[in-house]
Amino acid sequence: MSIYSSLDSIYDEIYKCMKCGNCQEVCPIYKETRKEVGAARGKITLVETLFTGEMDLSKGMDERLSLCTTCGACTQHCSCGVRFDKIILAARAEAVRKQGLHPGKKIAFKALKANRLFDTGLKFGSKVQGIAMKRIHGSDKGARLRYDFGLGLGNKVIPNIAKKPLKDELPDVIKVENPKMRVGYFIGCVTNYFYTDMGRAVVDVLTENGCEVVIPKEQGCCGTPASVNGDVESAKVMAKRNLLAFEKTDVDAIITNCSSGGESWKHVYSELFDDDPKMKALAEKWAAKTYDISEFLIHIVPFKREGLGRLERKVTYHDPCHLNRGQGITTEPREILKAIPGIELIEMKKPDRCCGMAGSFMLVHPDLSAKISDRKIEDIAQTHTDTVATGCPACRLQLTSGVENAGLQEDVVHTIQLLDQSYKAGKRRSSEAAR
Ligand code: SF4
Ligand code: SF4
Repeated sequence: MSIYSSLDSIYDEIYKCMKCGNCQEVCPIYKETRKEVGAARGKITLVETLFTGEMDLSKGMDERLSLCTTCGACTQHCSCGVRFDKIILAARAEAVRKQGLHPGKKIAFKALKANRLFDTGLKFGSKVQGIAMKRIHGSDKGARLRYDFGLGLGNKVIPNIAKKPLKDELPDVIKVENPKMRVGYFIGCVTNYFYTDMGRAVVDVLTENGCEVVIPKEQGCCGTPASVNGDVESAKVMAKRNLLAFEKTDVDAIITNCSSGGESWKHVYSELFDDDPKMKALAEKWAAKTYDISEFLIHIVPFKREGLGRLERKVTYHDPCHLNRGQGITTEPREILKAIPGIELIEMKKPDRCCGMAGSFMLVHPDLSAKISDRKIEDIAQTHTDTVATGCPACRLQLTSGVENAGLQEDVVHTIQLLDQSYKAGKRRSSEAAR
């Protein structure tokens, strides 16, 4: 029984909770709202009423269930081992089964499912973005909406849509001489359409380390926006498309630079297909071969340390929730950063505190998302660094907006971009020395 197919799957988890309230301590929502329903305990009590029959699903309950960034901090902190990460997903899936999906989300997930339509829409958007968006003066960090349209995003810095999506820019296969491994690159939407610099860095670092890179063009959204919002059927369509796209390749591994994408491949896809043995087997096969880029470069093909050039930077690292708690990856990005000559790594107060982005959460609760982000930005400001590294394009978006609004001069990048810059600095230094 899967969390995506039946509410009964979480019955035992609900009754494991002894209502101690310790989860309030780590919950970013509770910290801002001070409302019981913000923390896991409040939402568990709500879901319990569905089992006891005291309450039925309603719009009001949906709204309360939406008060969660799925950061996983409560699950990690709970001494009773309550898997709230499972409870929230199962409850949201039940809500969609019983009441249908919000019309706005319905349109959004329909577009994500129709890969070509989504692609065409964003390509068109890249041409006309200047009409709705005003670039931040003298910066390539992004733009702000010219009119808020009642979205509550007037203060948000949104990255510019790339002129050409990364998938169109890259060839199907990027060959290297005597490859150590042949890997497939799962790009993810934010990297593909917005942060193409990040994706190019992933490819350059992989080839620099002797890996041939395959880019299956049929790949699309990982499906996380749909699965975390309870739209299981859409999530399955997206998962199936990705699984079949990579199954056609003969790669040894799949590499991601997106924390939610990586978590989907490793954990979500097999759970989604609990009732479909063939797809489940395929999902499990690829789950075992999927690696976050930092994990891959530490444990599978150790990155070469010779040829790294100096980067004079003070760097702080933000742990994305779905990389840290979702995949257990915390030391690997730090190991990479520490290996780069010239980088001084300065830890912020709570590097694993959620940044408040959480995909569609930022759109549904823009004010709350901004408040959660403000705490993170305060922690960053206290490090007096010039660079924030992270392991997720969505976190990069949120942090870029936060530092820009706070007037900080921080460059926000993916860890792998710094490694790429270091290799390139090393090459420049050698060619200068050779002259
Ligand atoms: S989820 Fe865990 S920490 Fe929160 S109230 Fe229940 S038992 Fe306590
Ligand atoms: S997953 Fe995060 S946001 Fe959601 S209830 Fe737990 S601590 Fe709060």
